Amino acid sequence: MAAEIIDGKKVSADIKAELAAEVTELKAKGIEPCLAVVLVGEDPASQVYVRNKEEACDLVGIKSIKHTLPVSTGQEELLSLVNQLNDDLSVNGILVQLPLPKHIDEHAVLLAIDPAKDVDGFHPINVGGLMIGEAPFQPCTPSGMIELLKRYNVEMTGAKAVVIGRSNIVGKPVAMLLLHNNATVEICHSKTRDLAGETRQADILIAAIGRPKFVTADMVKPGAAVIDVGVNRTEAGLCGDVDFESVKEVAGAITPVPGGVGPMTIAMLMRNSVAAARQQAGI
Ligand code: NAP
Repeated sequence: MAAEIIDGKKVSADIKAELAAEVTELKAKGIEPCLAVVLVGEDPASQVYVRNKEEACDLVGIKSIKHTLPVSTGQEELLSLVNQLNDDLSVNGILVQLPLPKHIDEHAVLLAIDPAKDVDGFHPINVGGLMIGEAPFQPCTPSGMIELLKRYNVEMTGAKAVVIGRSNIVGKPVAMLLLHNNATVEICHSKTRDLAGETRQADILIAAIGRPKFVTADMVKPGAAVIDVGVNRTEAGLCGDVDFESVKEVAGAITPVPGGVGPMTIAMLMRNSVAAARQQAGI
C-alpha cells in the first residue's frame, strides 16, 4: 500500500488559521504581535522569502516591519539597526534574512539579536536552551518537522529515529527535538559506515542532506515515516533528498517536495512571533 502523503501545505494553513484566531484574542487585550524583518542586499531568493514572510504576517494579523538595506551596508550600521530593534518595545521578533553579504560577519549579527526576540532560534543562548529543553523559541524548520509528525499521529515515543545530516540549522536541532519527544535518535552523516544499514532500522527517517533523491526505497524500513527536508533545484525541477516515487511505495507516511516541510518553516516563524509577543507581555 502506498504511503500516506503528509500535506505540509494544509498543516501550515491550519496553523496560520489557529494563530490568526489567537492574534485576534491578543489584540482584544491590546497586544499586537510585531515582527521586524531585515533584508540586506537584493538576493532574489531572499526577496521571495521575505515577501512570503510578510504575506504570512498579514494573514495571521502580525504587524510586519521591513527594513531593506543596500548591499553596501556596513556591519556597524547593521548592528546599530539590530540594537535599535532590540530596544524597541513595540517589536517582539527580529529576523535578519540570511545569507548576508560576504563583508558582514553573520555570526556577529545573530549574536547581537536579543535572545528574547530571536524568533529564528539561531542565537547560541537559544541553541543551548534547546539542548536543555528550555528554549523560548525552537528553530523553525526542525520544529515544523516535529509538528508534521504530531499532526499525522506518528508515534515518537520509543520510536527509532534516524536523521541523515548534522547541520546546525537542521540535522542537530531536529535530532534534539526528537529526543525531547522520547524517540531513540541516531544522527548519520557523510562519514557514517553502512548508511543504508542504519536507515533501514528507522521508524522515523529524516533526510537533511541536500542531495537530490539520495534516499532510495532500499534504504527505508517498510511502514516508516519519512520526512524530507531537502530542497534541490535540478534540471527537471525542484526535488527533495528522497526519491519520492519509489520510497512512497515502501514508507508508511512521507512528505512531498514541494509541499511538505517547506511551508512549515514560515508557519513556525509565525508561531514563534506570537509566542514572543505573549512572553514580552507576560501572558
Ligand atoms: P548542509 O549544512 O549542507 O548539511 C548536509 C548534511 O548532509 C551534512 O551533515 C553532511 O554530512 C550530510 N551528507 C552529505 N552527503 C552525505 C552522504 N553522502 N551521506 C550521508 N550524509 C551526507 O545542509 P542543511 O543546511 O542541513 O540542509 C539540508 C537540506 O535541507 C538542503 O537541501 C537544504 O536546502 C534544505 N533545507 C530546507 C529548509 C526548508 O525547507 N525550510 C530549511 C533549511 C534547509 P557531513 O557533516 O559529514 O558533511
